Amino acid sequence: NYTTRALAQPLTDADQLIYSVETFIFDCDGVIWKGDKLIDGVSETLDMLRSKGKRLVFVTNNSTKSRKQYGKKFETLGLNVCEEEIFASSFAAAAYLKSIDFPKDKKVYVVGEDGILQELELAGFQYLGGPEDGGKKIELKPGFLMEHDKDVGAVVVGFDRYLNYYKIQYGTLCIRENPGCLFIATNRDAVTHLTDAQEWAGGGSMVGALCGSTQREPLVVGKPSTFMMDYLANKFGIMKSEICMVGDRLDTDILFGQNGGCKTLLVLSGVTSLSMLQSPNNTIQPDFYTNMISDFLLPKVA
Ligand code: PLP
Ligand code: CA
Repeated sequence: NYTTRALAQPLTDADQLIYSVETFIFDCDGVIWKGDKLIDGVSETLDMLRSKGKRLVFVTNNSTKSRKQYGKKFETLGLNVCEEEIFASSFAAAAYLKSIDFPKDKKVYVVGEDGILQELELAGFQYLGGPEDGGKKIELKPGFLMEHDKDVGAVVVGFDRYLNYYKIQYGTLCIRENPGCLFIATNRDAVTHLTDAQEWAGGGSMVGALCGSTQREPLVVGKPSTFMMDYLANKFGIMKSEICMVGDRLDTDILFGQNGGCKTLLVLSGVTSLSMLQSPNNTIQPDFYTNMISDFLLPKVA
């Protein structure tokens, strides 16, 4: 019930926040990096937190890469982060299917990019679809009927720069013709920042296409849904009150932390400005806000 939350406070005592929690969950884009560029001071900040014995976890709604591919990205950026600390929404989709014992003889139809395919493969699930799908022509002659695999038991939709009508129709057939078929979304981010010059249609746009045709709502496994938070807390045996969620986006990251009962810190190094946070139209208030995570290294403000 965010309406009763106090207004976010500037972070004046980072040491106290660090002392009060055991785990930091960091959102990636806008907190750790911007696109392919590391944000200043991140490496030193992570090292400092590790030296204090804090557990560090990294969560991203960007489903285009697998955790293995993110591991490479962290390494390329010179950050000391291992795959097991990374939880992307691509991984979350596969983890969710595992958690419900999705049958291995059923198939997953993927509207999305390589990251989701890699995670499904690693988890041992059969899948079809993916970025290349839909090269086939749809011939709209009288009587034309598009076939689909009746063994598809789940449709997973994530960000897909190669979305086309074939994929929308395929996913629609799977869901509409089989009421038991699961409809899973990696995330519903309205927009994303593929370049810093403008906002670009996000994963929510691909999910929206399937919502429109199926008239069903998906189960979201990425932020702000609680699936990943529950998964993490369970996996590492962490109390949610001992977690601080650090992110740059109010309706995904901060809500994710609040839905999970964690402390929340908004950083202004990404998509949210101080005026957006303080706008009367904004209903989501983190506990604290600060410019960037390297503010953790600054001496306490008197
Ligand atoms: N989805 C896509 C396609 C993106 O490009 C991004 C950011 O780059 C995101 C989601 C949001 O990622 P994050 O949750 O790390 O901020
Ligand atoms: Ca972000």
